[in-house]
Amino acid sequence: MKMYSEADVDAGRLDGEKVAIVGYGSQGRAHALNLRDSGVNVVVGLRPDGASWAKAEADGLNVAEPAEAVKGARIVAFLTPDMVQKSLYEQLVGDIANGATLLFAHGFAVHYKLIEPRDDLNCVLIAPKGPGGLVRRQYEEGHGVPCLVAVHQDADENALSLALAYAAGIGGARAGVIETTFAEETETDLFGEQAVLCGGTTELIVAGFETLVEAGYQPEVAYYEVMHELKLIVDLLHEGGLKKMHKFISDTAAYGDMVSGPRVVDANSKKAMKAVLSDIQDGTFARNWIAENEAGMPEFKRMMNEDLEHPIEKVGADLRGRMDWLQD
Ligand code: NAD
Ligand code: MG
Repeated sequence: MKMYSEADVDAGRLDGEKVAIVGYGSQGRAHALNLRDSGVNVVVGLRPDGASWAKAEADGLNVAEPAEAVKGARIVAFLTPDMVQKSLYEQLVGDIANGATLLFAHGFAVHYKLIEPRDDLNCVLIAPKGPGGLVRRQYEEGHGVPCLVAVHQDADENALSLALAYAAGIGGARAGVIETTFAEETETDLFGEQAVLCGGTTELIVAGFETLVEAGYQPEVAYYEVMHELKLIVDLLHEGGLKKMHKFISDTAAYGDMVSGPRVVDANSKKAMKAVLSDIQDGTFARNWIAENEAGMPEFKRMMNEDLEHPIEKVGADLRGRMDWLQD
């Protein structure tokens, strides 16, 4: 494993250079503000009719239409939704300067060949391992969210040093920047969110809720048990791994964890995980997701509605409404 820290970064690397950030959502806002506060010349590229324009201006940033923003930029960061990046690249490629660096926060569009960068361009990845809000907050507190770095195309032998300077500018080098490839970042990121972080966790919560409610227990008690209390456990795991969790839970909980956990997540679950991973590796998932977008996202909307209509959402909204500290 190769990990870079602030000491490995050429600090003046972006002096006098323009960095264009296209998109001002979760990652875009955090990157733009952190880079600006690190002394980098940042321009945010946004559609004039979009909702983010006023917000970026109110944040004190220079804003321009994307085609204008990318002109003369040393780095162009594509921080729009993954599915928009291909058409955006096609729209902007004529305005991107010779020898510029395309930067992504997730490898999807490049790894699945939706974008094949012009030969004269560098193409790099700086993927923060956390949501944009945290990237901004940690930076303001003097910390940073760890990042992954990868180089897909190194046209001028500056790709890595520019990527690391960008990572340092958003605070990531304080925590460490691990070298990876676009393939590894894309495939592990998709697998993580599908099997464990988002998909796996929510299915586990909902199945646990249904099991208790179907057995006649009160939905409110079930909600506290399987949804609300999850935060305590996740915080312990985040801070100190399995060891810290085991130190803070009761012996009864630890014994139950070890004898019953493997009955729920068993060899079959792992087989299913391997199937999910194969679909990611052979491009099946990407093809389906692209087709779903092209069709106007009918299945996406249907499944999302189903998730949001589940009884656990009604009970949860009620109970969370009584905890006003959760409201902001
Ligand atoms: P987001 O959905 O929060 O924001 C997208 C931004 O792009 C918005 O400002 C939107 O107005 C703008 N946009 C949409 N279409 C546009 C267009 N045609 N032209 C110009 N601007 C347009 O996106 P995000 O979640 O920050 O994701 C950005 C990238 O970061 C993606 O590649 C994503 O995979 C990656 N990423 C996200 C996270 C995360 O926590 N959200 C974490 C790591 C990596
Ligand atoms: Mg789900």
